[in-house]
Amino acid sequence: MFRAVILGSGASLPTLQRQTAAVAVQYEGDVYLLDCGEGTQLQWRRAGLRFGRLRAVCISHLHGDHINGLVGLLQTLSLADRKEPLVLCGPPGIREYWKAICRYQGVGVGYSLDIRESEGGEVIRGKDHGLRCALLDHGVRTLGFSVCEDERPGRFDIAAAEQLGVAVGPDYGRLQRGETVTSETGATVGPEQVLGAARPGRGIVYTADTRPCVAAVELARDASLFICDATFGTELEREARARGHCTAAQAARMATEAGVDRLLLTHISARYHDARPLLAEAVEVFANTEVASDLMEITL
Ligand SMILES: [Zn+2]
Ligand SMILES: [Zn+2]
Repeated sequence: MFRAVILGSGASLPTLQRQTAAVAVQYEGDVYLLDCGEGTQLQWRRAGLRFGRLRAVCISHLHGDHINGLVGLLQTLSLADRKEPLVLCGPPGIREYWKAICRYQGVGVGYSLDIRESEGGEVIRGKDHGLRCALLDHGVRTLGFSVCEDERPGRFDIAAAEQLGVAVGPDYGRLQRGETVTSETGATVGPEQVLGAARPGRGIVYTADTRPCVAAVELARDASLFICDATFGTELEREARARGHCTAAQAARMATEAGVDRLLLTHISARYHDARPLLAEAVEVFANTEVASDLMEITL
C-alpha cells in the first residue's frame, strides 16, 4: 500500500476545521510522518494509524505550526514503551531543539532517537523506496520531502514466455529477477525477451511552506501526488511572497512544470472558511487538483 493521510491541512494556527501541518505517508509497512503540528498525535489516532509502524518523523522547518506536536508525540511513544529506534529528520537546528527540550524538561525518551539533520538528498533508505529531501524557499531553512518507490521491473509477458517454451513455475520468477533460464526445448531465454520496459516508481511529494521555486519543482518531478503549500489566493499574492508561501495558482503552475499526476493544496490559511475559490484558481491552471482536508486519505 502506498498512501498519504492528511492529518493537518491548515496554516499557522489550528482551527476547528483544520489542524496544523502533518501528513502521514505509508509505503507498505513503513509510515513516515511529515511535519508534526500541534495535536498531530490525536489526529494520528483518529486516522486509525498505528504507532508501531512509525519509522521516521520528518520536520520541514522549526516554525511552530510544523513542530509544536513533536515533543508530545515522542513522549507518548516512550510512554507506550516503544523500543524500536525512530529517525527524526529535519533541517540543521533540529538536534539542538531536541537537546534543549531534554535539558529543560529533564526527560528524554526510552528508545533511541536517530537524529538526521539534512539540507538535501536521500535521508532514509527503505525496502524498495527512499525518502529524499530538498531545501525550499521559505525564509528559514525549510525542507520538502519525497517518498519515492524505486524503479519497478517491466511487466512480465506471459504469452511471450509460453511461446519461448519457458516452463510454468519457478523459471517465471527467475526471469522476473533478471536471471536467464533454459526453455523446455533447451534454448536460453533472457529477461529482456519476456519483460517490458522498467517502470518508474510512484512518488508522493510534500512541500510544506515555500515560495514557488525550482527546488520544489525538481523534487516534485513526475510525482504521482504533489501536496503543496497553497496558503493564499491570488488576491494575496504579495502577502504570500512576503511570508514565504505559494498561492493556489502558483502551486498549480509548479504542478504543471513538474509534470505530476495529481495536486493536493494544503496549508490553507484560516481566513478561507470556504476553500472553493482557491480550488477554482488552481484548477484553471492544473485540472487534477483537490483541496486537502483533515483525515483525507489518498491511496495510489
Ligand atoms: Zn507553516
Ligand atoms: Zn513556516
